[in-house]
Amino acid sequence: MRHARTVAALVAAGTLSFSPAAQTQSGLGGASLVDRITAINQQLRAAGRGVAVEEVEFFTIGAGRPGVRIHQTGTRWVANDPRRLADGENLTYLVDQSDGGTASGLSSAQTEAAIDRAFATWQAQTPLKKLLLVKRPDAGADPDLFDSFYGFGGGGNPLLADIVNAGWLPRAYFEAVGGPGGGRGILAFSVSFIFIDLATGLPTDINGDRYLDTALNEVYYNDNFGAPGGDRTGNPWGIDSVLPGIDVETIALHENGHSLGLGHFGTPPVAVMNPFYGGVRQQPLAIDNAGMATLWASWPR
Ligand SMILES: [Zn+2]
Repeated sequence: MRHARTVAALVAAGTLSFSPAAQTQSGLGGASLVDRITAINQQLRAAGRGVAVEEVEFFTIGAGRPGVRIHQTGTRWVANDPRRLADGENLTYLVDQSDGGTASGLSSAQTEAAIDRAFATWQAQTPLKKLLLVKRPDAGADPDLFDSFYGFGGGGNPLLADIVNAGWLPRAYFEAVGGPGGGRGILAFSVSFIFIDLATGLPTDINGDRYLDTALNEVYYNDNFGAPGGDRTGNPWGIDSVLPGIDVETIALHENGHSLGLGHFGTPPVAVMNPFYGGVRQQPLAIDNAGMATLWASWPR
């Protein structure tokens, strides 16, 4: 039986140090996004939600766009974590079908199948053989949180699955989250949440691995690409479509790389986890799997 220890207790014990929320990682994130995330986290805590937004990462076409990360300490999923109703040592994912169709003409079934293929690809990699990526059916309930803070949908139930692919949302959502130009440049983004102690507001590390505990992850896709009358009509979402089209499976592989714990690998060497879209890439490269190996080598402990 593990005892929940807050980060405050670990800091007091001299076993962990971390930067306070005011100190974002250098070079990451605009001040307005940091302020917005801070406000969202205050609202989550006030609402009695024991989770906080920790990291937002943008996958773009053309010019890059810095994401934001609140603490310097990294995050990890915790096996058997009762707070997220963990499926033992497995991770669960859900594809929200209500927003699965695209303005470019793809059906929800098409995008869901592409997302499933991306999960299957990660599952097949050696570093991920220690766990199962278990799909949970979409029963129709709202499974996501982050969009509600921008006026796109209500606040859903974050415990339906660990990883939620929340579907294709309008350009205005990406402009609101990413700032000016975000609606045109951001293909998709990942939002990672961590658990907090509601009494203190501080992150937790219940298994003593010196990482903050991941609570859930949400992925949002930008429906502006290929939307008739928009400013990205030349780059429609498609299935296995080459540039200037945008391949759903490639983006899903990248985004769910974040869901499984990977960050961005800067500029080339070329990798699935490069932050810029470079065309169809449906298989991880060695550098991607090296990252996965460091994340999952000690799983489930
Ligand atoms: Zn990314």
